[in-house]
Amino acid sequence: ILYNQIQEAKGNIRVFCRCRPLRKEESLAGHATAVHFDAAKDGELGIISTGSTKKIFKFDRVYTPEDDQVSVFADASPMIVSVLDGYNVCIFAYGQTGTGKTFTMEGPENNRGVNYRTLEQLFLTAEERKDTFTYNISVSVLEVYNEQIRDLLATSSTSKRLEMRLATEGVHHIPGVIEAKVENIKEVWNVLQAGSNARATGSNNINEHSSRSHCILCIMVRAKNLITGDCTISKLWLVDLAGSERLAKTEVQGERLKEAQNINRSLSALGDVISALAAKKSHIPYRNSKLTHLLQDSLGGDAKTLMFVQISPSEQDLSETLSSLNFAARVR
Ligand code: ADP
Ligand code: MG
Repeated sequence: ILYNQIQEAKGNIRVFCRCRPLRKEESLAGHATAVHFDAAKDGELGIISTGSTKKIFKFDRVYTPEDDQVSVFADASPMIVSVLDGYNVCIFAYGQTGTGKTFTMEGPENNRGVNYRTLEQLFLTAEERKDTFTYNISVSVLEVYNEQIRDLLATSSTSKRLEMRLATEGVHHIPGVIEAKVENIKEVWNVLQAGSNARATGSNNINEHSSRSHCILCIMVRAKNLITGDCTISKLWLVDLAGSERLAKTEVQGERLKEAQNINRSLSALGDVISALAAKKSHIPYRNSKLTHLLQDSLGGDAKTLMFVQISPSEQDLSETLSSLNFAARVR
């Protein structure tokens, strides 16, 4: 109840900022820390670069490098559980490559992130509610690369390329998208593995490829209320976004330039949509990118949005950090 009251008072968009630890090589190289957390508990983050004054950013939550996967998930989980109450939910990880987007969403196998914990939580809550509701949960794994949607669960006999269509007013439909029905957390793990294997094939450098594409997990929840007979369908999107860093001047050509332009376009389209929603504008520009178009029915209305802004503590990364924080400040 308390959560919902807070939710109502603050609208449906949350921004959590998470800073990764300084890497060993970075501290050995003597890189200074530019990020300060004196008031992290109140959602405040200070940025100090050598010889300049402190700049304060405010978020719904701020995670220091010491905060672990469990505490990050604990703050996200009420929003996640609301998908079982019929809400659509989008969770994004935004930031420069190397700041922990994949760590937060996917996480290492022995320290799993939001994606896995989300499904675990959904099964747990579904079980608790089994006298009142039946839930069917299925998962799709998609990738958006160069403004094309790829189905990572597709096999050789099904199509990998997906196009979006508007079925009926406002309801989105992606013809041919594979929805893997999952009954328990073990099946989920297999599906996630299949998705990440498909992601790796066809790219000679998986890290590089993943930093230039958006990796999307869509969880569809079909709920039936056993008392009233009401049925609802809701979606939870978990998105590990492409790296937000600007291109080095030496790289501004060919295929790399096209990739960079597409990433730019989709990240700024996402920023435009969320800030238009936050400002309660009447026109929301969903159609400017594949990503926002894909997520259209889950962004806005009574849907809930959570953005993790991932940053590096190193002074070397300061300009990208400031650019990410400014992006986040715009959508908040
Ligand atoms: P991105 O997906 O944004 O490119 P990664 O998630 O791959 O970044 O993180 C880069 C590196 O930093 C990885 O080796 C990851 O394990 C490590 N890392 C990121 N965030 C954390 C964290 N909060 N705690 C410990 N290690 C982290
Ligand atoms: Mg990554």
